Amino acid sequence: TLGSLAHSKAQDVDAKWKGTSALGGTTKNFVHGEFVESKTDRWVEVRDPATQTILSRVPDTPASEFQQAVDSASSAFPDWSATSVLSRQGIMLKYQALIRSHMDDLANSIVLEQGKTFEDAKGDVLRGLQVVETACSITSTLMEERLEVAKDMDTHARRVPLGVTAAICPFNFPAMIPLWSIPMATVTGNTLVLKPSERDPGASMILAELATLAGFPKGVLNVVNGTVDVVNSICDAPEIKAISFVGSDRAGAHIYNRGTSNGKRVQANLGAKNHAVLMPDANLEHALNSIGGAAFGAAGQRCMALSVVVTVGDAKRFVPMLVERAKSLRVGSGFEDVDLGPLISPQARERVIELTSSVESEGGRILLDGRSYRNSAFPEGNFVGPSIVEAGPGMKAYDQEIFGPTLVVLNVPTLEDAVEVINRNKYGNGAAIFTNNGATARKFEKDINVGQVGINVPVPVPLPMFAWSGNKGSVMGDIGFYGKQGLNFYTQLKTVTSLWRSADATSATASVNMPTMS
Ligand code: NAD
Repeated sequence: TLGSLAHSKAQDVDAKWKGTSALGGTTKNFVHGEFVESKTDRWVEVRDPATQTILSRVPDTPASEFQQAVDSASSAFPDWSATSVLSRQGIMLKYQALIRSHMDDLANSIVLEQGKTFEDAKGDVLRGLQVVETACSITSTLMEERLEVAKDMDTHARRVPLGVTAAICPFNFPAMIPLWSIPMATVTGNTLVLKPSERDPGASMILAELATLAGFPKGVLNVVNGTVDVVNSICDAPEIKAISFVGSDRAGAHIYNRGTSNGKRVQANLGAKNHAVLMPDANLEHALNSIGGAAFGAAGQRCMALSVVVTVGDAKRFVPMLVERAKSLRVGSGFEDVDLGPLISPQARERVIELTSSVESEGGRILLDGRSYRNSAFPEGNFVGPSIVEAGPGMKAYDQEIFGPTLVVLNVPTLEDAVEVINRNKYGNGAAIFTNNGATARKFEKDINVGQVGINVPVPVPLPMFAWSGNKGSVMGDIGFYGKQGLNFYTQLKTVTSLWRSADATSATASVNMPTMS
């Protein structure tokens, strides 16, 4: 019956939404306002990670069909960029209301295809919705500077859109990450070609349908499904001026290098290894709950998951309590009342098990072993139970992003040592400290070299009025997602200097000196 619950949700998603297909059909592309079936003969299967049921086949869209989407986005740009900022704000307000009222449909699609729990999936939608809500204040945030620079002479700076833009998305936040780009790119007057993850495109297809209902004109948003070839076409298409990428290091480096060498602006958010520092004076219940939630929530498949805990000095004695807390977490289908769902694929499960096992041959210890976890109601699910291992720099489980429910713990004598470990790590998305001492927190905040710092806050992802600010190996490109940086990414500055004099010039000679305007 549990399996059939998942299937009935699948049918709900299928019955309601044009571009998605649960239970064996095909996912469409969304080109020039229409859902179109690809004519490709290359398809990727989307499977329910709790049951392996085939939910859909996703097209590996051929170049000619991809070009239709780019042509649509190009043809829509002149009119869309000329619409008033109030019209774009109005559409965004409608989009906001539609996403909110279809939150459960989006979350169902995410649970089905991605596997996270229903409540967590709603959080995925909500964090994306918050970007739409921030985009609604475009009438204030796009205001720029103006100065009278000399007699009768003014300079003003305006932010103008780039043209056609593209977004390439990962599997782990099927709604939030498309929504980092859809509102920011379009409200600033650009058009967008979005490529969802081929592993869970359903939420993007629902977001496309909601965009139509909100009044996005044809061609302003296009969704093209596919894999490497479509990504390479995005990197190469001369019409595309900017690419937003979120995903793994390997794909990100490839896209950043290929996109920028083709003259495009590229922002790329990559992998992570986020550390929590646990001080002996921490508020213990809060710290243990926060670390447990951030390490194992979404089965560890978050780029801001806390995947390493550095206990300082005596705080080592809290580790057995963390193990007890992790043991009590319930694992199962995201449609059940559980704490964590399956991993995205059998290969991801194998990789997590392998990296967890690697500590045994590298001098570490497995303190909690979820490798052999099986769920009798979902025997085919890609489950790994919460695991905790002792490891450190130079060991695979520490050095690599595991992207699963395996938490690394290590102990150091002092706060300075903890900061040194974190600063040496190649990634720089985030880090958190749990302490009751303001001076300790302040020192940590000042000395730590990561982009997003939590003080007694486990997943310090800034709300979208701020910008995403990961650093070091966790990003490529200089301009962050959303916030003021997001506006900067999707616009370029045009400064205009004008002179309005009522009388004609008094001299008949042209001045050949560099104008100083003074
Ligand atoms: P992924 O790199 O496998 O896929 C991301 C996108 O790139 C997909 O659309 C995919 O089709 C495409 N792609 C994959 N391999 C490619 C290749 N060789 N050439 C061209 N395109 C390719 O990433 P994923 O597994 O979907 O997502 C998980 C990763 O994303 C993790 O590393 C995670 O940390 C990272 N992530 C980072 C952030 C962040 O903001 N820093 C947020 C979410 C996820």
